[in-house]
Amino acid sequence: PSDNGALLSVRQLNKSFGGIKALSGVDFEIPQGVLAGLIGPNGSGKTTAFNLVTGVLKPTSGQIVFRAVDVTGNAPERNAELGMARTFQNIRLFRDLPVIDNVMVGLHMRNGPGFWSTVLGLPRASIAERNIRKEALEALEVLGLADKAHQIVANLPYGDQRKVEFARALATKPQLLLLDEPTAGMNPQETADLGKTISKLHKDLSLTVLLVEHDMKMVMGICEELTVINQGKMLASGTPQEIQNNSAVIDAYLGR
Ligand code: ADP
Repeated sequence: PSDNGALLSVRQLNKSFGGIKALSGVDFEIPQGVLAGLIGPNGSGKTTAFNLVTGVLKPTSGQIVFRAVDVTGNAPERNAELGMARTFQNIRLFRDLPVIDNVMVGLHMRNGPGFWSTVLGLPRASIAERNIRKEALEALEVLGLADKAHQIVANLPYGDQRKVEFARALATKPQLLLLDEPTAGMNPQETADLGKTISKLHKDLSLTVLLVEHDMKMVMGICEELTVINQGKMLASGTPQEIQNNSAVIDAYLGR
């Protein structure tokens, strides 16, 4: 399929749950290297769209193209192999394990059989293990967490736990980083810090990011391109400034 040069294209995406149309005819594109945001009020279909892109849900109809490959209906594991990495709205970490182990888990999942050779104590495994440890440490360094690598996750502040999740996703060297409401449960200071972290990752690593978020201040401050959905339908897309001046968005906000 043609990809128009975009890293991710979503075309005419529809998703129904029984009689409920969660998404109808949603289109958007994320060019390579862009920090993009998907926004909309509660219940507008953001999580549904996110789950369709990552493969957690299958669309009723429509197409998802990633790196010029039709990935519609792919399982999440396959999309991860192709270069999507995600974080979850609720942090999913092994709280009683050290930070570094949590990051290494992400790499073991990517490397698949390496995990089993480690369990079986095969000689090649120790080299693989050392490489994995090194890559995990590098990802922690990017997030400024290298000095906390051996701390137990549960003992870290919430904001740092979020960063561990980011490190785990980054360690797989993704083409597309998908963030599902990363500020959920954060106070304003943590939210502002996280915005800076996302922005820095995007700039330093030329990383393409799709951010699904309800904190408008943060989204408007860091995203380069926004897609707005409302009641499962596309409302607008453009730069934050274009969105703020968009009459459809203003009408929706004012309830017209
Ligand atoms: P958002 O993330 O923007 O808050 P969602 O994608 O969670 O919106 O929800 C969009 C709509 O789809 C809502 O009306 C919601 O109730 C409905 N919905 C989402 N998931 C399901 C599901 N598994 N079963 C039935 N309805 C769902």
